Amino acid sequence: MSVVDDNIAKAKDYMARFAKDGVLNHIAGENVPAMSGETMDTISPVDGSVLAKVAKSDAADIDAAVAAAKAAFPAWSKTPGAERRKILIKVAEAIEARAEEIAFTECMDTGQALRFMSKAAIRGAANFRFFADQAPTAEDGAVTRTPTQMNTTSRRPIGPVGVITPWNTPFMLSTWKIAPALAAGCTVVHKPAEFSPMTAKKLVEIAEEAGLPKGVLNVVNGLGETAGKRLTEHPDIKAIAFVGESRTGSMIMAQGAPTLKRVHFELGGKNPVIVFDDADIERAVDAATFMIYSLNGERCTSSSRLLVQESIYDEVTEKVAAVAKRIKVGHPLDPETVVGPLIHPVHEKKVLSYFDKAREEGATIAAGGEKIGTEGCYVSPTLFTGATNQMAIAQEEIFGPVLTAIPFKDEDEALALANDVEYGLAAYLWTNDLNRAMRMTDSLEAGMMWVNSENIRHLPTPFGGVKASGIGRDGGDWSFDFYMETVNVSFPRTGHKIPKLGG
Ligand code: NAD
Repeated sequence: MSVVDDNIAKAKDYMARFAKDGVLNHIAGENVPAMSGETMDTISPVDGSVLAKVAKSDAADIDAAVAAAKAAFPAWSKTPGAERRKILIKVAEAIEARAEEIAFTECMDTGQALRFMSKAAIRGAANFRFFADQAPTAEDGAVTRTPTQMNTTSRRPIGPVGVITPWNTPFMLSTWKIAPALAAGCTVVHKPAEFSPMTAKKLVEIAEEAGLPKGVLNVVNGLGETAGKRLTEHPDIKAIAFVGESRTGSMIMAQGAPTLKRVHFELGGKNPVIVFDDADIERAVDAATFMIYSLNGERCTSSSRLLVQESIYDEVTEKVAAVAKRIKVGHPLDPETVVGPLIHPVHEKKVLSYFDKAREEGATIAAGGEKIGTEGCYVSPTLFTGATNQMAIAQEEIFGPVLTAIPFKDEDEALALANDVEYGLAAYLWTNDLNRAMRMTDSLEAGMMWVNSENIRHLPTPFGGVKASGIGRDGGDWSFDFYMETVNVSFPRTGHKIPKLGG
């Protein structure tokens, strides 16, 4: 048996219960089907086969989950932070113990390659550990004094919250939202993406086995426009943490407006990697290709626009094209695979449509630009050259292993091109001129920038975007600010003079 066959057999074992019983909802600690009895399919991007039937929930299921989260809130929010920390560390340990199961399931449900997904569970556990450690001090604030008053500022958990996640790296992203919410003392209703629901169900089961009380985390599967919508409208849900497309963010903001929902949005990107002629070209090429061709390019922070100084444009694009052509595309459970199949035929169709658009707009396809085979959602790692910033391939988020290269003359033009998109999530800058790096990073419109580096996440730093890429920040203490209300209580220090009216 080859390694791949062996891995496929293991993955089948890990998913066997889902294949048999379906991916059910998880409400108040119980496995429950959608109340309507309806189901939808989650399919394998490898060959389109049905992996499992999934509960297709609607408003009634969301209402039941919100009721469970509401009932669990008083006890969980009053559980001492040190106790919540202990439980969440146990969740982290349990995730680590089942890292292979999570990774293999994720690969089959999303098409993401094992070489990256094997780290996803570990990253998820790290999220739990990081936020768990802050639970004991999450309520703390400052004391400020005036001659007459003592102000004490503190935080308290906001209440039951909704978490809505996308399909690209569902396990990691779910933990990224759920761990700080739980650490802050909130209870959660999670609505995972319909294309990749499996590991969300595993997460809640793992968490409860590790000691998370029932009802603290609830999972409801279903479509965005029904189950997701109801979650954003529910009056007992105090905040919505959403990761997904910018236009869905707009809809959620409108849906949440009547109940004045607090929202946190991590949305799309069209992130530039800007390479100046004084940069270390080998390192820049490695980083740029890593950031667009890893995770199938289905990554919000992917470097999907390659802006290169004219003098080195041909050299850089030739090197990038050579890497793109060498990359192994294959089964997600093959340890050698770099690019696996895209998540779903619907998404594959969208990505393929940009190959036609590139041709129509007059760009050159320097690498890839085609579907691979007839079975599964495989597309080749692609590089478009000779593009201009006005083209759709330079403006729109393609969300696949597809890179658009554009030349620039000087710093001013690089900046203008970089900022001339509706998004502003991340930017990558390659130069050995420190002063230029300072000038550029001062003016680039992006929430996160990396100089002479690929995206390396450090959990205490803020994560999030500007413009159409998001509202709010995750990481560090920013997550707690979102999941908690800040409250000030003022005490008199002396018998100060109170204004007397009418006397
Ligand atoms: P999507 O917006 O289509 O769906 C995301 C989630 O929203 C799904 O669970 C979906 O069911 C739900 N949803 C859809 N309509 C809804 C509605 N009206 N009300 C409530 N919920 C609704 O996004 P996707 O296609 O699953 O994911 C890809 C997108 O996510 C890309 O744009 C990508 O850039 C973005 N993303 C951003 C980040 C980030 O941190 N900024 C990270 C990962 C992915």
